Amino acid sequence: LSRIAYVNGSYVYHLGAMVHVEDRGYQFSDAVYEVVAVLNGKILDLEPHLARLGRSLAGLQIGSPMSNKALSVVLNEVRRLNRLRNGILYFQVSRGVATREHGFPNTEVKPSVVVTAKRLNFDAIKKKQQLGINVITTAETRWARPDIKSVCLLANVLAKAKANKNGATDAWFVDNDGMVTEGTANNAWIIKDNMLITRELSNDILAGITRHTLLSVANDLGMKICERSFSVVEAKGADEAFITSTTNFVMPVVKIDEQKIGDGKVGQVCKKLIKFYWNYLEG
Ligand code: PMP
Repeated sequence: LSRIAYVNGSYVYHLGAMVHVEDRGYQFSDAVYEVVAVLNGKILDLEPHLARLGRSLAGLQIGSPMSNKALSVVLNEVRRLNRLRNGILYFQVSRGVATREHGFPNTEVKPSVVVTAKRLNFDAIKKKQQLGINVITTAETRWARPDIKSVCLLANVLAKAKANKNGATDAWFVDNDGMVTEGTANNAWIIKDNMLITRELSNDILAGITRHTLLSVANDLGMKICERSFSVVEAKGADEAFITSTTNFVMPVVKIDEQKIGDGKVGQVCKKLIKFYWNYLEG
């Protein structure tokens, strides 16, 4: 089955799916994006993802390309055309195509909209959740607005490459005060004395949808929660650690910079969160 993408009004074969060379997303990272998970043929948490897309577009002063309702139709059509049962839909909106000038185009340009689909094996992710991952820490080198989900991901790409080169799955960014901001494509959490700790929302991190959902799942479970910054030192002394994202859900972190967290195995609180999060998703 050939993959099908959506590009500016047309459903096209993935191989021939193209944007213009002067698309501002391509030349200036002048674009925002979202990723939603598809589980058993159903898009998860679409509403909050569309709401965040709206906030990202507003943050870059890019006009909305279409209504949320129309975008939902397009996303579901791409899902259907790709017969996607389990995986993700990626969607990106750029400011559009214009002669290369840093300033915003003088004339009205139409935002470019692209949607692609990718299969994922969630059983493999479930297996990985039993083992956990290793992360390294690295200096925060991103621009000052990681809360805007822009495609300007070079610092994230380099940090991920550095992690992989050092035998780790991901990197946690650390700000000038020694505090963890977040992972390269996920929110960072630690657990101490059964308290869930994750950095408070601000311009410094992305407001993860999984983060938000997990907070409400944890709240329903009556768990102790604290939204505040934590240092690398504190993280290394935590009982457990984990990340959250649309593609990893709740993924335990068992080592930070080669140092074992707790006993270096997936802990009881993580196991409980993983179980309840899957119940929430599949229920
Ligand atoms: N932080 C960053 C930098 C990310 O790229 C992502 C992935 N979108 C997240 C956090 C997690 O967000 P979500 O749970 O909405 O996938």
